[in-house]
Amino acid sequence: MSSALLFRDDAYLRTATAQVLAVGERGIELDRTLFYPQGGGQAGDSGTLTRANGERLTIIDTRKGDGPDRVVHLLAPGAPLLEAGEPVTLEIDWARRYQLMRLHTALHLLSCVITAPVTGGNIVPDKARLDFDIDLQQLNAERIERETNVLIRAGATTETVWITDAELDAQPELVKTMSVQPPRGAGRVRLLRIPGIDLQPCGGTHVADIAEIGGIRVLKIRSEGKHNKRVEIALTGSG
Ligand SMILES: [Zn+2]
Repeated sequence: MSSALLFRDDAYLRTATAQVLAVGERGIELDRTLFYPQGGGQAGDSGTLTRANGERLTIIDTRKGDGPDRVVHLLAPGAPLLEAGEPVTLEIDWARRYQLMRLHTALHLLSCVITAPVTGGNIVPDKARLDFDIDLQQLNAERIERETNVLIRAGATTETVWITDAELDAQPELVKTMSVQPPRGAGRVRLLRIPGIDLQPCGGTHVADIAEIGGIRVLKIRSEGKHNKRVEIALTGSG
């Protein structure tokens, strides 16, 4: 029942054809998908699914299914019933996804500009945040913006790297995010490398070059608890 996760190899794919595998109460599963399911702090994709007869259905959100590489596409209430085996054409809401990609990669930079354990994070289309286990006094919005934007302006090509669970266990320092442990059991773990800047496990979708982020500004810095000092950012440019 698992889907080929097309976004994992090419985050820039906007459309694809697929076949319906199953229609369940939560939503539909496909043999392949472009739709990123909510996870690792990144919001799920939305978009459209077009049937062979031209009928267009809205996919309002995407969630992980009940097993590895299973993805459930949520349809708007009242959508017509699809049939297993029918061919469909998928299209993601690209403007929304591209914002998520730029913000997600920006958070990886933020985790390097602020050197403290990450205790949480979240990415929605208009803003993103990381929580750090750090003294609030050490977080200076102006310094964070300046140092992050210097990295963005310099640019760097991002790379996906796969390692085995055992290799990750031998390098626990790679895991910065204490609240989100990388998924295990599949035998291998996906990492995002920003050469010279960052290397950490991540299953999310990222821009090909950090220059595409354009720039960030700090919206808020506040305490959300003893171990959670929250830094919230937004994009400044259109990329
Ligand atoms: Zn990530």
